[in-house]
Amino acid sequence: MTSNVDCFFERAGFDRRSIGQIHGSVGQWQCGGVPTGQRYPLLAKERCSDQLFPPPACVGTTVDNMDFKGDIPRCIHCKQGFARPNIYLFGDGNRFVDDETITRSQGYRQFTERVTKSLKDSSELSLVVIEIGCGLRVPSIRKRCEEIHNACPLAQSTLIRINLDFPGSNILAPRSDSDSSTIFAAGEKDTTTVNIQGTALQTLEHIQVQIASMDLATRGRGI
Ligand SMILES: [Zn+2]
Repeated sequence: MTSNVDCFFERAGFDRRSIGQIHGSVGQWQCGGVPTGQRYPLLAKERCSDQLFPPPACVGTTVDNMDFKGDIPRCIHCKQGFARPNIYLFGDGNRFVDDETITRSQGYRQFTERVTKSLKDSSELSLVVIEIGCGLRVPSIRKRCEEIHNACPLAQSTLIRINLDFPGSNILAPRSDSDSSTIFAAGEKDTTTVNIQGTALQTLEHIQVQIASMDLATRGRGI
């Protein structure tokens, strides 16, 4: 799950079906309806459909190849509405098309339900949630990580938070009151959250080196 809209995970080789871009993607565009030219009402005509389409040929997905000099691109379906990237903008409300193939909202909800149920059914299972670079300005993913972590039985989930600026402990998502095992007693230390202050690449590389050295040590003992 990511709140980035820049297609970087896809470009880095991740299977698109395994990526949930909760705020949309610049790789897909949508009809934005026909604007009035005023702030209110904003639209003279709502979007024609929820069907996404590829970015217009005159507009790229990087700053370098954008060209603001041509005609405003129109929706390829109705030819009237202004085309816009399928990314969630502040105050967008339902003007953003929540397409399951991009956001994976329903798929993620089903996934979290399956995971938490499996953990509750079997105390031998455990979950590790790795949260990377999720700050406080737009904390959507940070909150989701805390929510799934908090929904699991206490001893069966670890939240690893890698963040250069805000590596602090849980502050956003409330703990579930339906499961008393996730409530800490007064003065009890939260040992289920590991906060690492650092950049994503540096930290992941460091962890990889540590795992490799553990593998060697394990092999050396013939285990
Ligand atoms: Zn349209």
